Amino acid sequence: MAKIDLHTHSNCSDGTSSVRDILFEAKKAQLELFSLTDHDSVEGIQKAIELSEKLDIPFIPGVEITTHEHEHTHILGYNIDPKNKNLLNLLKKNREDRILRVKKCIAQLVQVGINITEQQVFDRVKISASRAHIADVLKINKVVANRGEGFRNYLMPGKAGYVSPIGATLKKSIYTIKEAGGIAVMAHPGLIKEHWNFPVWKEMGLDGVEVYYPSHSATMKQDLLDLCKKYNLQVFAGSDYHGPKAGRVSKMGMNISDTHLEKLKNLLQ
Ligand SMILES: [Zn+2]
Ligand SMILES: [Zn+2]
Repeated sequence: MAKIDLHTHSNCSDGTSSVRDILFEAKKAQLELFSLTDHDSVEGIQKAIELSEKLDIPFIPGVEITTHEHEHTHILGYNIDPKNKNLLNLLKKNREDRILRVKKCIAQLVQVGINITEQQVFDRVKISASRAHIADVLKINKVVANRGEGFRNYLMPGKAGYVSPIGATLKKSIYTIKEAGGIAVMAHPGLIKEHWNFPVWKEMGLDGVEVYYPSHSATMKQDLLDLCKKYNLQVFAGSDYHGPKAGRVSKMGMNISDTHLEKLKNLLQ
């Protein structure tokens, strides 16, 4: 067994830890592979590379691209060239769309009498705006007790502050990662089970699947392992760590077999 984490977020997107802190947390977790995969941003990559060299952490540059297809169709990209023009353009467009979405969410909340302002939310955004920043302000303004409650009560489908997701198409996201020299991986497929279309995704250029993810049941993991075998897709693992105070998994790291680790090392290092 080996412990790795190929899916984490810093405060460049909606994580609560700085890039520096997240690298120290990765060091503490003694990971055999580690990646920072902020939403629609590669801003933290350079610093992460520098620190990982100092701290001797096996770091893989990463990103998580938002698509507008269904609520949670996100594509992880590894070993992307963080200076690739087309990739940077896609990420920039996604971040602009994120701002529009967050503004719409806030307007809808104000409409139903919730105490929140755009200024309060955007003061908290470093690079990539998200609903998590709205949820944090709802907490600060004592509308909710924590980020999770902010999502559940105000920002999920059917709730007052909900606005449909933004982002590129799935096809363009995969294509752009590949074009930037990267490896394209379907993030948390368990969250979009009713939309699975592995043969089509494979055809689009998908390289792997995040099989090991905190909310995936044993059955889900087995189904995904079978599909990976069938469509010749690589097995990935990530915790979607957002920092110790984000109200999600509080520790980094997912267990994988030594065989899967070897394959990932061959692919990524
Ligand atoms: Zn995601
Ligand atoms: Zn994520």
